[in-house]
Amino acid sequence: MSLSLSVEQPETPAEATDGVWLECIECGETFAPFEDVRYTCDECDGLLEVRYDELPTFDDFDGEGVWRYADALPFESGVSIQEGSTPLYEVPRLEESVGVETLRIKHEGMNPTGSFKDRGMTVGVAVARELGVDRLACASTGNTSAALAAYGTRADMETLVLLPAGKVAAGKVAQASLHGARILEVDGNFDACLDVVQDLASRGEAYLLNSLNPFRLEGQKTIGLEIVEAFQADHGTWPDRIVLPVGNAGNTSALYKAFRELVQAGELAVDEVPKLTGVQAEGAAPMVEAIENDADEVRRWEDVETRATAIRIGNPVNAPKALPGIRETGGTAIAVSDEEITDAQRALAGEGIGVEPASAASLAGLRKLRAEGVVDDDERVVCLTTGHLLKDPDAAAAAGNDPEPVPADTDGVLESLASEGSSE
Ligand SMILES: *Cc1c(COP(=O)(O)O)cnc(C)c1O
Ligand SMILES: [Zn+2]
Repeated sequence: MSLSLSVEQPETPAEATDGVWLECIECGETFAPFEDVRYTCDECDGLLEVRYDELPTFDDFDGEGVWRYADALPFESGVSIQEGSTPLYEVPRLEESVGVETLRIKHEGMNPTGSFKDRGMTVGVAVARELGVDRLACASTGNTSAALAAYGTRADMETLVLLPAGKVAAGKVAQASLHGARILEVDGNFDACLDVVQDLASRGEAYLLNSLNPFRLEGQKTIGLEIVEAFQADHGTWPDRIVLPVGNAGNTSALYKAFRELVQAGELAVDEVPKLTGVQAEGAAPMVEAIENDADEVRRWEDVETRATAIRIGNPVNAPKALPGIRETGGTAIAVSDEEITDAQRALAGEGIGVEPASAASLAGLRKLRAEGVVDDDERVVCLTTGHLLKDPDAAAAAGNDPEPVPADTDGVLESLASEGSSE
């Protein structure tokens, strides 16, 4: 594996523009960042990473939101709708019931379009503008399309989204639609949509903004930076572990990169890096399979199914970046059932935190790892909740209480209140 927590700062290649360049994680080939459109390595088709001649320290960060971390990003500013600065909630009752020293919830549903995808798009769409492209595209389980539609229209660009027909939560399609994206419903699953959109991109028909795009992951690094800064401010130390849902494993890769860069900048010791712990749904768990089998590569699952539609993915494109991230930080990966996901969604809602099903996978995974004794009771843990409850109103309604019909008079209402009440 060419990625390592303790990598040295590389020499700046001739292709660098303003101290920024792209580097292949497999063969090390370097490329100019903003001259040609490129998503993978010309030489070996490996994944690319953004590199910098200088890495910032905490003192360099200033301001609010994603762009507080401009010194860790390719530009000083982007196409912004005030993304980032999401809450890191305390959850005393959940902390108690899970049985860890500290539990905090980083709620990414509090971004402008209701998911962490906004952090990637504020950077990715800025790069698109720099490259001079005029049409943006993505394949999506929903949230990427909502974010791309909003940021694309903000930048006055044409936006194309490919969605798996019938498998996208209502709130997300509504967002993509109202923000003006052209929505193509594909007769196939997410992985098939991504195959098509990658093909369109390679034919030069559109600029690809899936998490294969290395610039999107730069924006998503800021989740990790916000977590460690806020946790340090409140607890005087870093979290031991970050638990997150995994689909294409972009976030896992982005967090790993954020921590590697902090290590390189001398801000974090290698043994202080939080253990990256990925959670997938049982019906779509190729990353978990690879971790359990200690495999170098992830096997593509052709048939995937879960009620957590945002992570209904069988071919995680960022696996070559994320597998070393999980392994080198001492983390792990675990699969949870849809039932466990819904239970966790209710438990978070019980603390006032409304999340969509995929987001609740993080808590469901943590509960399971506690039960199995993998997570110790003295650990300080942050669970990432990736998207807002209103993204998937049908799932929320199905998991919650049913409305009770009552007559339009007070006595009738009191009579109903005195009776049992309907349950879930
Ligand atoms: C995109 C998404 C994920 C998966 O994130 P990856 O970076 O692809 O692993 C998880 N949850 C929600 C709500 C998402 O929108
Ligand atoms: Zn290469």
